[in-house]
Amino acid sequence: MTDGCRLVMLGRQGAGKGTQCVRVARHFDVPHISTGDMLRAAVRAGSEVGLRAKGFMDRGELLPDEVIIEVVDEQLTGSESTRGGFVLDGFPRTVAQAEALDKIVAPLGGLDVVIDLDVPVSVVLERLASRRVCEKCGANYSVAEPPTNPWVCDACGGDVVQRDDDTPVAIRRRLDLYEQETAPLVAWYAERDLLETVDGLGDADDVSERIIAVIDARRSKR
Ligand code: ADP
Ligand code: ZN
Repeated sequence: MTDGCRLVMLGRQGAGKGTQCVRVARHFDVPHISTGDMLRAAVRAGSEVGLRAKGFMDRGELLPDEVIIEVVDEQLTGSESTRGGFVLDGFPRTVAQAEALDKIVAPLGGLDVVIDLDVPVSVVLERLASRRVCEKCGANYSVAEPPTNPWVCDACGGDVVQRDDDTPVAIRRRLDLYEQETAPLVAWYAERDLLETVDGLGDADDVSERIIAVIDARRSKR
């Protein structure tokens, strides 16, 4: 049985959240909702939210809570596609966002599980420096694992580039903000008995298996 799953993925920048969320969403056949991907698409489209977000993103700062909460609320409640579940990637990142999410998902049945994908800072620093992403679909690559044709996305043919915010200064700022604003959510969700910590080190396939095993164990208890 692989139907449904309402999941939040936590983990510092470079932990492999994006890659794993795509796989988990496919496995459970639910949408992958990545606030970073949504905002980058909004920037490319030149929408109002995009124009507002660009400066925050390039500096590695968080958008104001009320702006991002509205974006996510619209995505989760404005469409039928999330009825069967979702994988949330990049949200919540502050306690205020977690509180808002609680209210947003209450009518959908609440969250099933929150996964903290754990990778040490020393490792993520290396990964972020070599990270490359598809501009169009958000697929992840690295200098060590480029697409088949450099630098054209295997999945969609888009350009694979270094993100504007993968500069040393913006990376440091995002990691600092993660410790200050987002890491407290680990305890916050543990108190609500929703937290599972998964080791994010090693082969991506092994990490996916660990994550899916943890989710299945949770679901069988429900
Ligand atoms: P990373 O996890 O590497 O920081 P993301 O792709 O998840 O990158 O997000 C990129 C940027 O988008 C963030 O640095 C921030 O400016 C903005 N952003 C994404 N999600 C949120 C959020 N939940 N709250 C505030 N800002 C956000
Ligand atoms: Zn692509």
